[in-house]
Amino acid sequence: MRDGTQILLLEDEPAIASTIAFAVQREGFVLTHCPLVRDARRELSSRPFDLVVLDVGLPDGSGLDLCRDLRSGPETAGMPILVLSARSEELDRVLGLELGADDYVAKPFSPRELVARMRALLRRSVSGHPLGRLEGRVPDSPFVLDREGQRVSFRGVALPLTRLEYGLLATLLQGNGRIYSRDKLIEAVWGQTVDSMDRTVDTHIKTLRSKLRDAGADKDCIVTHRGMGYSLVAR
Ligand code: CA
Repeated sequence: MRDGTQILLLEDEPAIASTIAFAVQREGFVLTHCPLVRDARRELSSRPFDLVVLDVGLPDGSGLDLCRDLRSGPETAGMPILVLSARSEELDRVLGLELGADDYVAKPFSPRELVARMRALLRRSVSGHPLGRLEGRVPDSPFVLDREGQRVSFRGVALPLTRLEYGLLATLLQGNGRIYSRDKLIEAVWGQTVDSMDRTVDTHIKTLRSKLRDAGADKDCIVTHRGMGYSLVAR
């Protein structure tokens, strides 16, 4: 059973990687395994992932450096990150969380526990975030919301959205004209409040607007309310 959830694993020890691969594939997740930091960077720059699992010590660098870089990139700032390390020292744990990791699992770990922690992170992020009950056609509008597939269609055509763009659009559609502050959007889409992410929201709103325009939607359907936030008029 595949549920299509995309996981990137950065881990250089083959035995650990294959244990994790077995456990997550049994859950229906799709795993991309990278043994080197540079492989992981290449994969992460080419497409979105739902969750990243990072080892700390890699032959060509540190998973913590990658963690910090992911947090500062607009496309990856909200990506759930779980750090995995053989070193269970408090310092590593604190460093990992300070650099923006969402959770930390020390080796040796049970695959069952790791998968449970991954599921918890995924629930907190867009895919499982309780955005409300709106599903299917949005009343009096050309939008159709498919939560299961995390897709939004406009006039019957699926919009090519990233995970975060989908989260923003689904939230705004759900609000039906309600104004969401940037903080509220961050909370709804990223599942937590993170400091200094206002610009990240603006960046995603900008790309979302341009995709809506490309699909033929009214370019002003997402309204900016100066000093307040955004709303969407779904007509
Ligand atoms: Ca390692």
